[in-house]
Amino acid sequence: MERVYNFSAGPSMLPLEVLQKAAAEMLNYEGSGMSVMEMSHRSPVYEKIIGDAETLLRQVMNIPENYKVLFLQGGASTQFAAVPLNLMNGSKKADYILSGQFSTKAYKEAQKYGDAVAVASSKDSNFSFVPKTDKNSFRADADYVHICFNNTIYGTKFPYIPETGDVPLVADMSSCILSEPVDVSKFGVIYAGAQKNMSAAGLTVVIIREDLLGNARAETPTMLDYKVQADNGSMYNTPPTYCIYIAKLVYEWILGLGGLEKMREMNAKKAALLYDYLDGQSYYVAPVEKESRSMMNVTFVTGDADLDKKFASEAAKAGLVNLKGHRSVGGMRASIYNAMPYEGVEALVKFMDEFAKNNPKA
Ligand SMILES: *Cc1c(COP(=O)(O)O)cnc(C)c1O
Repeated sequence: MERVYNFSAGPSMLPLEVLQKAAAEMLNYEGSGMSVMEMSHRSPVYEKIIGDAETLLRQVMNIPENYKVLFLQGGASTQFAAVPLNLMNGSKKADYILSGQFSTKAYKEAQKYGDAVAVASSKDSNFSFVPKTDKNSFRADADYVHICFNNTIYGTKFPYIPETGDVPLVADMSSCILSEPVDVSKFGVIYAGAQKNMSAAGLTVVIIREDLLGNARAETPTMLDYKVQADNGSMYNTPPTYCIYIAKLVYEWILGLGGLEKMREMNAKKAALLYDYLDGQSYYVAPVEKESRSMMNVTFVTGDADLDKKFASEAAKAGLVNLKGHRSVGGMRASIYNAMPYEGVEALVKFMDEFAKNNPKA
């Protein structure tokens, strides 16, 4: 069967080259006589895989030396608790910017552990933009400020990095990590579930500044203690070995194409094709404020729920799948992560244009 253009928000498309390499190495990885998923995580052959994965990620993201890289399980959602457990241990205050559903979940989780405050929110506008903040938006004695850098469900992205002074900035980057260069030194912690733009579901990457380690609350589960994970090289227990291997192949793929500058160029070109089309017609409406538009998740509606439904089902028949918007928003969402080829977006725009002509509104 032909492969489809898969616009799923996650788990999502992986580069064809990565899947082909994994397939070729499936039964016998580099003469080991076994698949990577059958290997002991403590074997020398696997230690090289996880070691290379870390080295490559550091190279791709230009991660400074004073940051640790952790390969964990539990998804980004587990980090909603791990962050306060590890960091909310000074003033026990933490400031959250609410820019969508995931940041709201993170905020609610943090409220279990201390004085978490929503310092800015775009909820009243159905999260159609990213709230603006400045240094005075935050409490100077907060243990950290939390943001969700790219809002997967609504299709918005922070057009700026909040200025938090000495307060560490924590960012959920699940749906934008590796999409463009980011200055890691501006953040105390970056975390990301891998299934959007990095690997298969099951891996969560945490990048943390070293001075933030070792201050976890007493009740922190051992598995969630960043220091324990850092001291054990992400091998306190069995790490998600196969997902880390796939991530390594993805990092190699990115480097082979020219790194994150090149990713940004390719992603900007894809996103511009779709947004320019949306801006040049009136059949579809893109609800997100222009300044907050995401390069990764593009949302649009026809304004008619029945037409939206018909759009998603006819698109699927044309090989353009998973275009239905998140159940909390409706409409359509095209997730165009790194692995989505330009041709996929071209095919989508062509389909959108034909659909509009064939389905005039009453
Ligand atoms: C998908 C997603 C999550 C949830 O990730 P899980 O790995 O399923 O827990 C959290 N934050 C963002 C920004 C996401 O895109």
